[in-house]
Amino acid sequence: MYYDYDYDSDYDYDYECEVCDRSFSSQRALNDHRMYAAVHRGRWCKRCELQFDSRAELDSHKAVSFNHSVCAVCQVDCESGYELDEHMNEEHFQCKGCLKWAPSASDLSTHMEKAHYYCAQCERFFENENNLRQHRKVHAPLIMECYGCERRFATTSAMLIHLESGKCDSGVNCDRLDSIAYRCYQSRYYTNGWNEYYQYKCPDCQTKFRYISALFQHAESDACNQRCNGTSLEKLRHYISISV
Ligand SMILES: [Zn+2]
Ligand SMILES: [Zn+2]
Ligand SMILES: [Zn+2]
Ligand SMILES: [Zn+2]
Ligand SMILES: [Zn+2]
Ligand SMILES: [Zn+2]
Ligand SMILES: [Zn+2]
Repeated sequence: MYYDYDYDSDYDYDYECEVCDRSFSSQRALNDHRMYAAVHRGRWCKRCELQFDSRAELDSHKAVSFNHSVCAVCQVDCESGYELDEHMNEEHFQCKGCLKWAPSASDLSTHMEKAHYYCAQCERFFENENNLRQHRKVHAPLIMECYGCERRFATTSAMLIHLESGKCDSGVNCDRLDSIAYRCYQSRYYTNGWNEYYQYKCPDCQTKFRYISALFQHAESDACNQRCNGTSLEKLRHYISISV
């Protein structure tokens, strides 16, 4: 007698899928079935050997189960918290400012410049925009050569601080700079009076200053409409340049 034996029949094998009520000839065949059969796809947890009703349920299982440590950035499923830590440190980049993780180094720098007041050159965070802007001046090119020596500075005010300090080779100091400023024919626009504590004022907003460098610092900042160009301060700057 001849039987057309069906090798694919479901009930003679030892490896059984309880969910589908089907048997397989090897563990491997069963595993393949659980991974790829439509009924299991996105619902079978291989590691825990559990079947879920939907992908969402599988995902929430992975989120709470101690067998799983899912990376929040790329969704890789690590086997332990330790392995997840390693994965994060090797594959992703953390913002030191808010501890958020970014998928790549360039994503991290985009984040840091958008979400924080951050100087990438110094890898430093600042409290607010103003502090960052002040700080960025240290990176400005040194375009201002001292009127009295060969040292270079980023701004006019930085050079004037140098002159006021008395450290310039020219021998200029604060007193001498003050007398130059008072001698300039434009002086009535930016001086308060020789005997005043605050000898200088902004020609535009009238804010008072003790030092000429502070007046220029004010003009260089966004605090006031006054600009160093085409004003009495520009004429003063020129006058200092020929008098030092
Ligand atoms: Zn099955
Ligand atoms: Zn699981
Ligand atoms: Zn990841
Ligand atoms: Zn951040
Ligand atoms: Zn910096
Ligand atoms: Zn100098
Ligand atoms: Zn002003």
